[in-house]
Amino acid sequence: MQLLDGKFASEKIKQEIAAQAAEFLQQSGRKPHLIAILVGNDGGSETYVASKMKNCEKVGFRSSLIRYNDEVTEAELLQKIAEINQDPEADGLIVQLPLPKHIDPEKITEAIDYRKDVDGFHPVNLGRMIRNLPCFIPATPYGILLMLQAYQIDTTGKHCVVVGRSNIVGSPMSILMARNANPGNCTVTLTHSKTHNLKELVLQGDIIVAAIGKKNFVTADMVKPGAIIIDVGINRENSATTKSGYKLYGDVDFEQVAPKSSWITPVPGGVGLMTIVGLLKNTLASAKKEIYS
Ligand code: NDP
Repeated sequence: MQLLDGKFASEKIKQEIAAQAAEFLQQSGRKPHLIAILVGNDGGSETYVASKMKNCEKVGFRSSLIRYNDEVTEAELLQKIAEINQDPEADGLIVQLPLPKHIDPEKITEAIDYRKDVDGFHPVNLGRMIRNLPCFIPATPYGILLMLQAYQIDTTGKHCVVVGRSNIVGSPMSILMARNANPGNCTVTLTHSKTHNLKELVLQGDIIVAAIGKKNFVTADMVKPGAIIIDVGINRENSATTKSGYKLYGDVDFEQVAPKSSWITPVPGGVGLMTIVGLLKNTLASAKKEIYS
């Protein structure tokens, strides 16, 4: 078993991003700029956004956090998004999910100018992704591709089984792994909660991507020897033994599965760190107008 180490891979790529951000600053007189909107006080969301902002500063980006309490109306949010869409110095705009129930996440996602949609959730970006055209790839799947690239893992011809079909992880991941690209060129099975014989299908996976949101869901008896395991899950549990007061678990039973695998991502220290790199790369590409002019 070898570790797909998100810390190692992300630090290396962040150095490259920092060098390009410095070059951009020199040429344009400004830093790449990411704006995040955070609604409410969800513990997980607070942590993710803080980490995104911190990483922006680390690589020489400008970052702005706009906060609202739970009572913000959909109209107020849409107004703010429209304002940022017009701002020539806003390269990337993300709205941290989940949103309170009275706000329609689809409306919010579609309101963001697709040319600033560095989370890659806008239908234009998703459509372009399916057609293998330049686009912002959703940050988590993008981070996984960057991880596979960093470790020079050849995915061609392999059977990739994705567990979970969310719009932000499982679905785009299945499309990316099936594309005629590298990483990609896999035969893909996309599974979800209505799948029959899940265990038999997962057992066929040369590559298993677990994006379910259930602690230790993928167990050793579901994994064939030598499989490559990508664990996207971040499941928080209260803990009296950690400084933060909680502990993170993946969707894969790491202890049992790792000895059977050829490569595996840890949680924490795996996909989560690469997601941030995906976001930073999209923001830089937006600033440099590499995808849309
Ligand atoms: P969602 O809750 O949106 O989707 C979960 C998916 O898992 C659904 O498609 C659901 O199926 C499927 N599922 C649930 N139960 C089962 C089951 N028993 N058997 C098979 N499939 C099942 O989650 P996300 O995709 O947003 O997130 C998944 C996990 O990844 C979470 O732990 C989340 O915190 C984490 N995450 C981590 C990121 C990172 O950077 N590392 C980024 C984003 C998410 P159905 O569609 O039928 O309901």
